[in-house]
Amino acid sequence: VEIAAGHVLTSRGWTSPGIIDVRDGRIVEIRSGAAPSDRMAIPGMPNLHSHAFQRALAGRTERGSPAGHDSFWTWRTEMYELAGSIRPDDLEVIAAMLYVEMLEAGMTSVGEFHYVHHQPDGTPYADPAEMSRRLVAAAARTGIAITMLPVLYVHGGFGAPPSDLQRRFVMGVDRYLAIVEALRSANVATGVAPHSLRAVGEAELRDLLAGAGRCPIHIHAAEQAREVEESLAHLGARPVRWLLDRIGVDERWCLVHATHMDDGEVADLARSGAVAGLCPTTEANLGDGIFRGVEYATSGGRFGIGSDSHVVVDPAEELRALETSQRLIHRRRNLLQDDGSGRHVGRYVWSAAARGGGIALGRGGAIEAGLPADVVILDLAHPRLAGLSPNEALDAFILGSAHGAIAEVYVNGDRRVEGGRHRLHDEVVRAYRRRAE
Ligand SMILES: [Zn+2]
Repeated sequence: VEIAAGHVLTSRGWTSPGIIDVRDGRIVEIRSGAAPSDRMAIPGMPNLHSHAFQRALAGRTERGSPAGHDSFWTWRTEMYELAGSIRPDDLEVIAAMLYVEMLEAGMTSVGEFHYVHHQPDGTPYADPAEMSRRLVAAAARTGIAITMLPVLYVHGGFGAPPSDLQRRFVMGVDRYLAIVEALRSANVATGVAPHSLRAVGEAELRDLLAGAGRCPIHIHAAEQAREVEESLAHLGARPVRWLLDRIGVDERWCLVHATHMDDGEVADLARSGAVAGLCPTTEANLGDGIFRGVEYATSGGRFGIGSDSHVVVDPAEELRALETSQRLIHRRRNLLQDDGSGRHVGRYVWSAAARGGGIALGRGGAIEAGLPADVVILDLAHPRLAGLSPNEALDAFILGSAHGAIAEVYVNGDRRVEGGRHRLHDEVVRAYRRRAE
């Protein structure tokens, strides 16, 4: 397979025009050669944090309750109620819709932080990995690359028993590791995910890490200010600080959110090599707070992006929210950029998030020989991109809203999106509507 474009964003810069040679799903080389000038190839974006079932909640939680004071915690109760009603068939239909949306938006891989393991009454399914397998099936059908991150959920909160609404999630470490093993023996890329320091105690975390082997480790950390207060009360340290000092965090780790960090945590997390898993549109929607992007990035910290609750499924919008939130705080412009990206914000945030997401999911992340051929083709004839240099076009795509600019999307060298649409778009939408109505 050859993917040709007038401009190809490789990890060494632009090749214009360029041809990406692909064999067995991987990039063999990027060479110069004749190609249509109105096509621009950029790395496919890993979506490092997804709870697929929450896609069905979009639009259903934006009305204020009569009591007022709506927050992350009141949203979470509504989310739990939805989680209680999702059956395996529902999950597969919802995930297929979501994965088509991701692919059409330029996301080529997904990390499923998956915790709805059991039947609605809390009894495990005959196959304890039933719900995980439905996500894997939806990914296989739509062609997105999936990294399963089955979630260990033991406690209802710091030192608290699980509530009825959490009974589909909870299990001990042994049963949890059996699910991880079942997925691995089915050749599914699988990491581990202790849900949070709220839901997993130190002893369980250590058992999980000892049993997991070398693989990606994802955890929710410091999403809410209240979570930081509870962590200080129960563990004697802020969540990120506790993980850094007590457990040790390195490039295998992805700390999802990491919203509330003090100066020392920002510097030490950046130095650890871990990936901060940022979900700016969800964090904004839930009122979490603003990640300290400028301080973290200037300390050399790695990051990637996730669509998390899927209130928005659009990597450009996640990255735009990341940069613009920093501008609003600092009252300055063009904050996330570096020499390597020619000081272009769009190119910097896209390349850095693709690279960080690739590390967090254990695949891809750049257009580079040896990596999976996960590639997005932008249409430079789109009116929002017309007449711009490649760097400016990437800025316009990310900082503006160039809807419809994605022409093609490749995963492992297979074209999954053509003319902006996934081949299964119509039938997946039909099934989704039928379930929703
Ligand atoms: Zn999450």
